[in-house]
Amino acid sequence: MIKNTGYKSLFVLLFLLISNFIYAQISVEYFGGAGRVSGSCALLSANDSSVIIDCGSFYDEGNLPSDNSVIDKKLINADAMVLTHAHNDHSGRILQLISEGFKGNIYCTDATKKIIFEMYDDGWNYDYVKKKYFWSKSKREKIQLRESREPLTLHWHSACKNAVRNKEESKSEVSLMQLKDKYGINFKVCKSCLSKDLENLQSRFISVEYKDNMDITDKINFSLYNAGHISGSASVVFYVYDENKIKTVAFSGDLGSGYSKITPDKDIIPKVDYVFVETTYGGAKKNVSNADYQKFQETISNALKNDKIVWIPSLSLHRTQKILFEIKQAQLNGLISYDVPVYSLSPSSNGITERYEKEASFPSRDRWFKDEVYQTGSFLPENYITKRPKEFPCPCIIISASGMMDQGVSRSLISTLLPLENVEVCLVSYVGPKTPAGKLKKGAKVIRVGKNSVKVLAKVNVFDIFSDHPDIDELMKWLSKQNSETKIYLVHGEKSTLENALNLYKKNGFVNTKIAVKGINVLN
Ligand SMILES: [Zn+2]
Ligand SMILES: [Zn+2]
Repeated sequence: MIKNTGYKSLFVLLFLLISNFIYAQISVEYFGGAGRVSGSCALLSANDSSVIIDCGSFYDEGNLPSDNSVIDKKLINADAMVLTHAHNDHSGRILQLISEGFKGNIYCTDATKKIIFEMYDDGWNYDYVKKKYFWSKSKREKIQLRESREPLTLHWHSACKNAVRNKEESKSEVSLMQLKDKYGINFKVCKSCLSKDLENLQSRFISVEYKDNMDITDKINFSLYNAGHISGSASVVFYVYDENKIKTVAFSGDLGSGYSKITPDKDIIPKVDYVFVETTYGGAKKNVSNADYQKFQETISNALKNDKIVWIPSLSLHRTQKILFEIKQAQLNGLISYDVPVYSLSPSSNGITERYEKEASFPSRDRWFKDEVYQTGSFLPENYITKRPKEFPCPCIIISASGMMDQGVSRSLISTLLPLENVEVCLVSYVGPKTPAGKLKKGAKVIRVGKNSVKVLAKVNVFDIFSDHPDIDELMKWLSKQNSETKIYLVHGEKSTLENALNLYKKNGFVNTKIAVKGINVLN
């Protein structure tokens, strides 16, 4: 009997030891953005609490899986989220996460909140949001018989119920993509149903100022630092209270290049125990000077002087506004005539431009831009037009999304503009190798859009000066308060880029650097 009790107490002791170890363990689990670029999403867990850092969409990265339809249960049950910035590959799955039951608050800067809601107002990120949708049956039939080309509007609030005649509805909660599979047509969400949802959502997004301290649970709090990447972008430093010790865990988010003309440069974060660093460019060095910006302005100027059409496919968020600002500067410098029309044709970009414009003329307390932008007071060049004309005049400038030309207005302009000799295309964004812009960059003379082959007679220029990521020197600057004891984890980069960067980090004295794994990284 005595022996038996001895075993029992030994078991209890062992159990207590193990559970104490598990209890005290801090871990960071990656669901996307580790070993790859897109789908940024991490979960910091400690002391029975957990916080999500970003919840972004996957995009095509060659052989890597890019399924956006499934969200892990652990994310749904997390206590809160900290959002580093508004780019889709960091924020694109938040609405989906909420529709699947995530109840926590979402902390971000006020600028990020304003930009995100500008995007949500336009119906972004609804592809996988599950609801009991209803719609007009007769409209659906017309579209399926190709009597109408409009996408079908989906509703879900009872206020719309009376307005929709001969309703059809989903029996259970479904997503737009599931309906697309079933009916083979495109859908959009009802603006008034959407605005009701967004009203309720506003209070879940908590604005945090840079360097303020914010509690998430009684054991985890955090501060944001300006990441200098796009307006509102932030790095996060978490303070995790473990018994009587504090452990500090930082996430860089996406960091700025250091040479943006509109975004204030990044803050250097304090010394931390662990830091997860973006590695988009790995060990590459980029030297961008004012002369490079000058060359961009002159290229456009020369094309326009020859009565050409300048077409700039660009990202909706931040890149389009940078391009507009550059065109405005070129007008002020006398390189571009005030008479040349500047078309900005993507509604998704124009909503964000309006928000940037508001901020440039009425600055809010936090700084979205550099002084030069506030001094100029506007992003809009003279002769800025958002409506597509029947025919494009010569000369003119056209800006459209997407930058890879595989979606939206850019895609629809391919067959109109690329066969023309008097068109100059300026590529200003990262382009996936398989996208139309990627093929143009490699010198393709024929581009396929759907079933059509389009002959390319337009001239193609490539500009690598608008990127919003740091090279290796900038990263070392950002890490200047860290030392050989800091445990560094590399994320957000392609495999070879990460390996290349790892060597350079070690050479620079950061001997405790490794590549973060998809799945659980235990911090010890
Ligand atoms: Zn980004
Ligand atoms: Zn509705």
